[in-house]
Amino acid sequence: ESITVNTHGSSYDVHIGEGAYHLFGTKYHEFIRSFDQVVVLTDETVASIHLDLLLQELKPIARQLSVKRIPAGEKAKTIENFYDCQTFLLEQNCTRKSVIVAFGGGACGDLAGFVASTFMRGIPFIQCPTTILAHDSAVGGKTAINHEDGKNMIGTFYQPAAVIYDVRVLTTLSEQEVRSGMAEVIKHALISNPDWLDELMGISSFDDMTMVELKRHLAYGIAVKAAIVEEDEREQSVRKYLNFGHTYGHAIEAAGGYGSITHGEAVMLGMVYELIASERFGNVQKGFTDQFIDYAKHLGYPFPTINRLPFVELLKYMEKDKKASFGAVQFALLDQVGKPFLQVIDADELERLDREFRDRVG
Ligand code: NAD
Ligand code: ZN
Repeated sequence: ESITVNTHGSSYDVHIGEGAYHLFGTKYHEFIRSFDQVVVLTDETVASIHLDLLLQELKPIARQLSVKRIPAGEKAKTIENFYDCQTFLLEQNCTRKSVIVAFGGGACGDLAGFVASTFMRGIPFIQCPTTILAHDSAVGGKTAINHEDGKNMIGTFYQPAAVIYDVRVLTTLSEQEVRSGMAEVIKHALISNPDWLDELMGISSFDDMTMVELKRHLAYGIAVKAAIVEEDEREQSVRKYLNFGHTYGHAIEAAGGYGSITHGEAVMLGMVYELIASERFGNVQKGFTDQFIDYAKHLGYPFPTINRLPFVELLKYMEKDKKASFGAVQFALLDQVGKPFLQVIDADELERLDREFRDRVG
């Protein structure tokens, strides 16, 4: 199955399926042959479990192949690793005719994309996402590393040449990483499609999901993201809707300390907060939010985390968010499921909503 993403500068396909890596030997054979070298940038953990699956396809066709392992997880996205990757590319004698293959989750993809976009002013890269969450991060062309003073503060808009998403690798994800990724799938449903959301809300345990079902949800999610990115690549308008759950969610992630809670888990808490805000500013029904809270709790999202994060801390991060402008905090809220809109909220109202959030999830 494939979804085409058309942006102003480029058009690329996102392929999803069991065995999608075979496409390197078929559809992408000529493309890979057109490069003097293929460099796989991969996360250590992913490499240790799955690298053979990928190399098996690339080895026979690449003119030259090298592999650079980077630390697993968020630790990948540092200026030091960025520089280290550039050094590696130079040592391997890469040129503007070389290509990077990002093989890992969102962190690896964000770093590899940024490396690709800057090495010799930009060389092509292919995303091979290995997490559920990366159905989101691998599509849309945002690349980034972190600064000490803020996550994703250094980056580019740089679209991949292709996304090849082989779902075979997803079977080794931890329970926590499944929860993290599924939160972004649920976000894509909340901002786009009540029927699909109903279906997702029928899931009582992620363990019960079959690979066929998971693949379908991921393909829906990618289609939602692709349509939005096509309309607004640079986040001037509708792309902001993808931030649903992320304003409060990012604050939780930052205040809690990255690593103590996953991105998606923080976003799930953020979506509940922003649903409560959507009752106030949109037409979301309280009954719906309460049902959604029960659903999220049942799936094991870590609501008690909020107890160790005081509102003043969260506010500090919300006000620092790069989507904030002129002091007020802008949110993507829902008028109803499938109907997002943008709303500026002041600090007093944020605090009131925060109290309500803690009451209702506690
Ligand atoms: P991740 O890349 O840190 O991966 C999470 C963990 O899972 C890591 O420890 C990794 O080693 C492990 N892992 C990856 N694939 C595995 C597999 N198949 N089997 C077993 N373990 C595996 O995190 P993520 O959740 O994929 O992505 C989060 C990152 O994505 C954040 O840095 C976030 O900022 C970024 N992000 C970017 C965008 C974007 O548009 N560019 C969107 C959303 C998130
Ligand atoms: Zn996200």
